[in-house]
Amino acid sequence: MLLIPCPNCGSRDETEFHYGGQAHVAYPENPAGLNDREWAEYLFYRDNTKGAFAERWLHSTGCRQWFNMLRDTVTYDIQAVYPMGTPRPATAKTNATDAGTASTAADSTTTGNAAPSTSSTSITASSTTAPEGATK
Ligand code: ZN
Repeated sequence: MLLIPCPNCGSRDETEFHYGGQAHVAYPENPAGLNDREWAEYLFYRDNTKGAFAERWLHSTGCRQWFNMLRDTVTYDIQAVYPMGTPRPATAKTNATDAGTASTAADSTTTGNAAPSTSSTSITASSTTAPEGATK
């Protein structure tokens, strides 16, 4: 169980809070200009970071205020608590390289001390034709 330091109330039990998902997800500037895929990505796709992760929390049974928290998803270590609307604080342990950079190359065999290949394997649709049996 987490002991969460509310910026208004001090440290309280995790059961007093509600998780609000990933922090710093910006609302699209022109939502009407997005296609269905871009809109769905805004609504539903979130990072699944291993390590430091910025997330929103609500102190629902206390001051009822939202705040951001930087928490390590591996160790549950709370690294920072900061107000909504302020940028993510810099920490010594930011794992920005872990965020969604998994290689899909078939030959990505990295040994212990070899640097991972930086050859970009962009994921683009290689075929725009409809699958067999699809209706037009
Ligand atoms: Zn509070």
